[in-house]
Amino acid sequence: MQETDLVMNLMRELEQRQCNGHAKVKLGTALADPAKFQDIFSNFSRGTYFESLNLEIETVDPVISCSCGYRASPRSPEELSICPVCGGEPELEQGIEFEILEP
Ligand SMILES: [Zn+2]
Repeated sequence: MQETDLVMNLMRELEQRQCNGHAKVKLGTALADPAKFQDIFSNFSRGTYFESLNLEIETVDPVISCSCGYRASPRSPEELSICPVCGGEPELEQGIEFEILEP
């Protein structure tokens, strides 16, 4: 599962940093479900140094753009790969970000 891998990466990365009880990540919602991500983080951090960490998630909603000129936030997961106007393959402009903003 994608969320599990991301959480494991995050924890590995945070171990190298000084968290001071707070961390903030940027997460594209086309990459992972923020609620699921938060849940998995809570499960994994139980009984560890990260248990009391306040994890803030800044979400980025997906935006697709197509060579036909269509550009929008997809209303369904299908629109991530099929343009609703021309049926072509749109490009994902944003929505797959994963970045640690703090610390
Ligand atoms: Zn199109």
